[in-house]
Amino acid sequence: MFFRKSSRETPEKKAGLFERMKKALGATRENLVSRIESVLGSVPAIDEGALDELEGTLLAADLGVGVTDRVMTAVRAAHKQGEIASPDAARGVIRGQLLEILSVSGPDGVVGEAGIEVWMVVGVNGTGKTTTVGKLASRLAGEGRKVLVCAADTFRPAAIEQLAVWAERSGTELIRSRTGGDPSAVLHDALSAAGARGADLVLVDTAGRLHTKSNLMQELDKMRRVAGRKIPGAPHEVLLVVDATTGQNGLAQAREFTRATGVTGLIVTKLDGTAKGGILFGICQELGIPVRFIGIGEGLEDLLEFSPESFVDSLFQ
Ligand code: GDP
Repeated sequence: MFFRKSSRETPEKKAGLFERMKKALGATRENLVSRIESVLGSVPAIDEGALDELEGTLLAADLGVGVTDRVMTAVRAAHKQGEIASPDAARGVIRGQLLEILSVSGPDGVVGEAGIEVWMVVGVNGTGKTTTVGKLASRLAGEGRKVLVCAADTFRPAAIEQLAVWAERSGTELIRSRTGGDPSAVLHDALSAAGARGADLVLVDTAGRLHTKSNLMQELDKMRRVAGRKIPGAPHEVLLVVDATTGQNGLAQAREFTRATGVTGLIVTKLDGTAKGGILFGICQELGIPVRFIGIGEGLEDLLEFSPESFVDSLFQ
């Protein structure tokens, strides 16, 4: 397992983080849970009519067809067994299903002798990739990792400069080339530098757009191979950044990147101020890939380690 739970979190800090997440998820809670509550709250007992209404509500709340089917199958089965006579019991089944969907485990990894982990961060332009690399660098450096950032999005003119600012803010080292340079060559240089400078984690920002989509997927694949040749087992993580505000589109992107780049984890950004956070359940259910972090704002601190329990609690409490 490459991800270690942060050891810095005191109970007070955890409570603060939970409150921030709860606040950021306000619109999603309104769209999803408040609607469920209003169906369940309006019926004295669960009957066929209430079940139909519940199904329509889940579909309307950006959960997608797959998640709705799964949740409703469980709710109907429990109803048949006479287990959910009350709205409260129905709420418990829904909550349990949603939690199970998010509780996907990731790959178990072993870091080779070089002692260097490589995490590639991939995703469509505008999803928040570069910002997320900056936030990750800051967070992980703060936890004592020796982080080196590789600016391999050489296609988008502003990306390298933007990353340089983030790296400076987080006090981490940056390996870059000029705009238009070869991303795999920059990665190669960064991995050599990591060895020479004693870094233990290389975060790689990648392009979200090249001349064509197949160019992009080929380039990302090439980068994977370059990383693996330089450091056995690399990349240890391929983290896909998905913008929650894009709803079902985000799911389509996730499918495509997963096919081409072997995504091992998700980072869902912009959960603040969107009602479409339910997309997170759809992606986990369909792709079986765990969410690692969530973005809840534009600042350096606005990246939270993901916990399925806290996420579901913050929606249902
Ligand atoms: P990239 O093209 O994928 O590298 O995307 P950028 O990192 O340049 O981010 C695009 C925009 O999204 C910027 O304005 C960021 O500040 C913003 N952004 C990134 N993450 C978040 C987030 O979690 N919440 C909000 N509200 N904005 C974000």
